[in-house]
Amino acid sequence: MQFDENILKIIEKSEERCKDKFAKMERTALFNQNKVLDAFRNNNIGQRHFAQTNGYGYDDIGRDTLCKVFAEVFGAEAAIVSPLIVSGTHALTIALYGILRPGDEMLAVSGAPYDTLKEVITGDGIGSLKDFGVSYRQVDLVNGAFDYDAIKSAINDKTKLVFVGRSRGYEWRDALDVREIGKMAKFVKELKNDVIVMCDNCYGEFVDTLEPTEVGADIAVGSMIKNIGGGIAPSGGYVCGKKSCVEQIAYRLTSPSIGMEVGSYAYGYREFYQGLFLAPHVTLQALKGSVLFGEVFDSAGYKTMPRPDGECKDIIRSIMFDTEEELIAFCRAVQKASPVDSNVTPFPWDMPGYEHQVIMAAGTFVAGASIELSADSPIKAPYIAYLQGGLTYEHVKIAAAYCLESVLNNK
Ligand SMILES: *Cc1c(COP(=O)(O)O)cnc(C)c1O
Repeated sequence: MQFDENILKIIEKSEERCKDKFAKMERTALFNQNKVLDAFRNNNIGQRHFAQTNGYGYDDIGRDTLCKVFAEVFGAEAAIVSPLIVSGTHALTIALYGILRPGDEMLAVSGAPYDTLKEVITGDGIGSLKDFGVSYRQVDLVNGAFDYDAIKSAINDKTKLVFVGRSRGYEWRDALDVREIGKMAKFVKELKNDVIVMCDNCYGEFVDTLEPTEVGADIAVGSMIKNIGGGIAPSGGYVCGKKSCVEQIAYRLTSPSIGMEVGSYAYGYREFYQGLFLAPHVTLQALKGSVLFGEVFDSAGYKTMPRPDGECKDIIRSIMFDTEEELIAFCRAVQKASPVDSNVTPFPWDMPGYEHQVIMAAGTFVAGASIELSADSPIKAPYIAYLQGGLTYEHVKIAAAYCLESVLNNK
């Protein structure tokens, strides 16, 4: 390869240290692949489910069955999987609006929800939840764990929905373990049994053998252009969970009078099925890449999260740089190592929905898909790059060489 001997040596040595972690993650992928196969088999998936539909889409067997397959994979009663959902933010938004009513309170228990939800929850005069009379409370994590005492005192008569983010967002912390989310769900339900526990599951799917809906969350929500779309799904979002919740959310996605009885897709559903089939393996590729990046940058003297002795609970690798220059050099190297738009130089810009300027590297086949190798970083100290994805481990390994070389040259 075209890299300096030293760079290649660091990559190879780092990879050696990953072996045990790789083996464990491979067992998880095998388990999840079997889970997906079972769901396909139990629903007798055939070519007819991939068909294009148009108009209202009554009795759209491709749509209806896709929802059933997802529900089974997530151990949930029902699901909505739809290309009509434009992104993860949209899926989370319809879930919140579907469940919450005027006078209700939303309680976030893992700190602030993902950046793009801020305006949704507390924006002024834009039809936010606040505008509709839904109040909001927040309990932060303490050392990356739930603050049970604070959660207990925050719950009151108005609390309707408890929100938890499985992934780390733009924070220097590990993602939450699914079992911890289950414990928290049990805890809040013991305090108030009609509370709905909702989990932002973005970047968490198939990282573990369990999903939040299997351990007590009422709904799990995510994007189809992350883990669960396997790099194949062209767009969309999903909501899985209790039938009563999913129904309310379907009324918000379409209309209270029609719910999920309608919705066609002239492009056909094959990519959603195929993407789900590939997702356990693709998630494994991304996870192996994340572990390798962790070892490589740790050995080069940078702090990474999870720590080298820690476990991956989402697909993100956070790497802390000393300067803005290193951070930008890192993101540019990710772009340069991409199969698409490798000639493009990313710059920090004011992205809609984000507070700080953000630099994004995403040389992806599906525009902006972050199950494909990508990096994004808000431009603020400390300078943390959030790297995720990779359809093949080989690609991520090559990118690690590009990134290390670029960062060391910009030290
Ligand atoms: C990606 C993501 C979302 C939703 O983002 P979109 O870009 O709208 O798909 C929400 N929460 C987390 C933790 C995410 O990673």
